[in-house]
Amino acid sequence: MTEHTPSKKPLYYYAVIAMIALLLLNAFVFPSLLQNEVKEVGYNEFLSMVDKGKVNEVSRDETTQTITFTSVEGDKTLYYKTGIWPDDSLVDRLDKAGVKFTASIPTQTSPLMSFLISWMLPILIFVGLGQFLMKRMQNGMPGGIGNALAFGKANAKIYVEAQTGKTFGDVAGQDEAKEALLEIVDFLHNPERYAEIGAKLPKGALLVGPPGTGKTLMAKAVAGEANVPFFSISGSAFVEMFVGMGAAKVRDLFSQAEQKAPCIVFIDEIDTIGKKRDLALGGNDEREQTLNQLLTEMDGFDARKGVVILAATNRPDSLDPALLRPGRFDRRIHVELPDLKGRTDILQVHARGVKIDESVDFEAIARATSGASGADLANIINEAALRAVRMKRDIVVQEDLEESVEVVIAGYARKNAVISPKEKRIVAYHEIGHALVAAKQTESAPVHKITIVPRTSGALGYTMQVDESEHYLMTKEEAENKIATLTGGRAAEEVVFGTITTGASNDIEQATRIARAMVVRYGMSDEFGMVALECQNNPYLSQDSAMTCSSDTAARVDAEVIAIVDRAHQRAKQILKENETALHKLAAHLLERETITGEEFMHLLKEVSPEAAVPAIA
Ligand code: ADP
Ligand code: MG
Ligand code: ZN
Repeated sequence: MTEHTPSKKPLYYYAVIAMIALLLLNAFVFPSLLQNEVKEVGYNEFLSMVDKGKVNEVSRDETTQTITFTSVEGDKTLYYKTGIWPDDSLVDRLDKAGVKFTASIPTQTSPLMSFLISWMLPILIFVGLGQFLMKRMQNGMPGGIGNALAFGKANAKIYVEAQTGKTFGDVAGQDEAKEALLEIVDFLHNPERYAEIGAKLPKGALLVGPPGTGKTLMAKAVAGEANVPFFSISGSAFVEMFVGMGAAKVRDLFSQAEQKAPCIVFIDEIDTIGKKRDLALGGNDEREQTLNQLLTEMDGFDARKGVVILAATNRPDSLDPALLRPGRFDRRIHVELPDLKGRTDILQVHARGVKIDESVDFEAIARATSGASGADLANIINEAALRAVRMKRDIVVQEDLEESVEVVIAGYARKNAVISPKEKRIVAYHEIGHALVAAKQTESAPVHKITIVPRTSGALGYTMQVDESEHYLMTKEEAENKIATLTGGRAAEEVVFGTITTGASNDIEQATRIARAMVVRYGMSDEFGMVALECQNNPYLSQDSAMTCSSDTAARVDAEVIAIVDRAHQRAKQILKENETALHKLAAHLLERETITGEEFMHLLKEVSPEAAVPAIA
């Protein structure tokens, strides 16, 4: 890492400067401030001044062997000094002249002044320097020591009270979630009606769902619909360097919200602070205090005032149970991945801002993107628009959308990738293998597109399958067919080339995952039946799961999974052997064209084997 700002000198640099300044002040400035000008005179002159009564105070210093004396002329006091001379009569002489005499230096400045100058001034200089340094640090490194020292200071600026400009019109699909939130909007519009009956609205609603499904968007839309102030803060903003600061922020947020009621407080990614509290080693004190403060605040305010708290998370399982109990986030609003209709709607919503050809079939795109989130779909529309610009078109057409689906799924096409003809042939047979096995099993979804154009994601080719209609359930046969289709690529390599390649790793992974799920979660194996052998930790993120059986059982599960995949693999090989002519013909066609559509594929298949429409007996 390089330091960009040369003005940011290390701390000791300032300390050294301060020390030097202090030394210089001590050596030259202070002494001259303290001591008035002293005139040196001869001893005889001193005696004559005493006799003339001009001297009024004398002091004798043994260590420096000097006599210092003052004389008043008008309203001015003059200082003199002279060397000591052996003189026994001096005391008598001074006495006679009525002079005050001591053995110490006469006070030259007021004691208060000298105290201020020698003690207070250095301290003031240090404090001033400290302040200056602090300011620099605060400006220089946000969130650094400077900020941390502004302990517990409530800085109101962090809570944006935004006009979000979003409405429910911007949120496509998600009708159930919208309905639940509409009630909250209605409450914010006329809280009296609810108060009259005595109904208390939930204080908080928790939006739960996978990433990119529009939770944040939906919260903004609620604010837009309700037309009330919207306090938005992300959970991570509460997490501070020092214990207690997050809690101070929570307090501050709620006191501001209460003043602005009715209003909405939205805490995004609440799992950052709302994680289960536990006694595990290295527990996070700051986070726990923040959470405790949040709980207290939620209990503390009056729901009838009209402060509604919305929060969003994609890890509901990790939230502290105290947050979820009635009276706090007692309402859960599920925001799920969109279905076919939802995807079509989302595409249409995002297409509003883009010049798009009227003939574009959004439903076809939606069908090809099963499992995509709202954010993915928004991305697809944008990619399509970008592609249209690249193609020097001023309107987005179907082709742009189709291509951008592939970009989002598989990455950009690698136009310059050089792949040897031999490898290209293997890839072509591999992909046709998938497609042929899929087509020969009636229950498998028809092929949408096959391509052997390499992608930036590393895929050398792929077969895109599209479900005709939305599926919510999968039968055991469908699951088995799916596995067979996945093994079809490798099977083709074996049947045609008698050898195998590394190209099937992703297929193997997917096939194994389905087979394992069949055994441990869906109760689809003969051996174990309806016993859950695994529990899922987080339904929305990752495939994080834990086995809940003994290691002995786990070994048998593995054997069962292997058997399922093996059966499917054998069946795929069987299908390909029975249709070898079709396999060769289709692969040759794909090699020539590089990309063929589902219709082309089915057309060719029927030409080769007219009985293709009849399901193959496995
Ligand atoms: P998250 O659930 O992770 O908070 P966001 O609300 O941030 O997701 O959504 C990301 C983007 O995805 C939104 O800005 C929006 O463009 C798009 N999006 C997601 N869901 C929808 C939807 N139902 N309708 C329209 N756009 C959506
Ligand atoms: Mg979000
Ligand atoms: Zn494959």
